[in-house]
Amino acid sequence: MTYPAATGDFRPVPEAQPGHAEERSAVIDLEAIRHNVRRIAAVASPARVMAVVKADAYGHGAVPVARAALGAGATWLGTAHISEALALRAAGIEAPVLAWLHTPESNFAAAVAAGIDIGCSGWDLKRTVAAAREQERPARVHLKVDTGLGRNGATMSAWDGVVGEAMDYQDQGLLRVVGIFSHLAVADEPERPETDEQLAAFREALAIAQDAGVDPEVRHLANTPATLSRPDTHFDLVRVGLGLYGLSPFEDQSPEELGLRPAMTVRTVVSHCKDVPAGQGVSYGLNYRTGSASTLGLIPLGYADGVPRIATGGPVRVRGVNYPVVGRIAMDQMVIDLGPLSVSAGGTSVLGAEAVLFGNGEDGGPTAEDWARAAGTNNYEIVTRISPRVPRRYINEMPGREGSQP
Ligand SMILES: *Cc1c(COP(=O)(O)O)cnc(C)c1O
Repeated sequence: MTYPAATGDFRPVPEAQPGHAEERSAVIDLEAIRHNVRRIAAVASPARVMAVVKADAYGHGAVPVARAALGAGATWLGTAHISEALALRAAGIEAPVLAWLHTPESNFAAAVAAGIDIGCSGWDLKRTVAAAREQERPARVHLKVDTGLGRNGATMSAWDGVVGEAMDYQDQGLLRVVGIFSHLAVADEPERPETDEQLAAFREALAIAQDAGVDPEVRHLANTPATLSRPDTHFDLVRVGLGLYGLSPFEDQSPEELGLRPAMTVRTVVSHCKDVPAGQGVSYGLNYRTGSASTLGLIPLGYADGVPRIATGGPVRVRGVNYPVVGRIAMDQMVIDLGPLSVSAGGTSVLGAEAVLFGNGEDGGPTAEDWARAAGTNNYEIVTRISPRVPRRYINEMPGREGSQP
């Protein structure tokens, strides 16, 4: 960067950096992603791994995560929307990608043209075939059966008909049934019986498809919790989202206990630090008042950044101590009560100190689980809702020895 020589009171200023990442960022450790993929691949073997990168890879960034996951041994990618799958293709990613959540407005033609695998539950078969005709190229289809979740997928009573319709189209050369799949409802609660019921229904659906002449490359049922706790659900492919990001789907098991490493750290720097008297109200509603003379730290992240407004009490780590957020979380900011630091009398201010909302949990650091508890939600939602206002910064982008690109 060069600037004209300074004349008069002209001062060179750095180029504007929108959302300057030193101020606030979600740091994504791509080596953690690669580690998690290797761990999951080992658990799932001989089944293969589909890295689920929907919703911008649960907030981690779809393209960098997809590349890291493929480099570490995942062989498929999964998204909810066709548009998310198209974005991967636009970035030059050529691995098989499955998209499974459509509307009549979805761009099936673009999906077929880009060689994206299309999950079909019934009505979407006709749209897929119309796109195949238009593109003069057979579509790649994974038929989805509803084994109990009650969302997408053909009901067991409709399954026969959907399979028959798909086979007619396959015989006409309009599509190929590449996969058969379903999705589990309670695999994160291993003691519940419904996973067994879903597994039995899935086997029945597979038998019906086989009788109709379907010979799929991949049968897939398991999400992260089933991959980690139910080898009998692995079949040919496991669809893993949460575990890729190093988070635990189980109430009573930490990522570390599962051999996983959380990949996202959300951090900023303290933007104000001041002494206040006893009884000082804090933030809108004045729901919190200091019990005695104290020092407040202002944390420049709020619900516009994806911190849930309801999560008062969530931890922020400053200089090795976890402080609960006090008072209401606002759009842009929130407050921690540091106790009396007597900044005005020469105590050490934390202005500019790093403030970590959550990270990998090492050394007692706060975690996405802590924020999930404070917000009455799960860790999926905490990482996924970190908004585009928080710049993503990638570390360890170069694959290690084990993670060379295919
Ligand atoms: C999101 C999703 C997954 C991944 O679930 P995780 O619990 O994050 O592993 C797998 N399959 C389908 C159909 C999904 O929608």
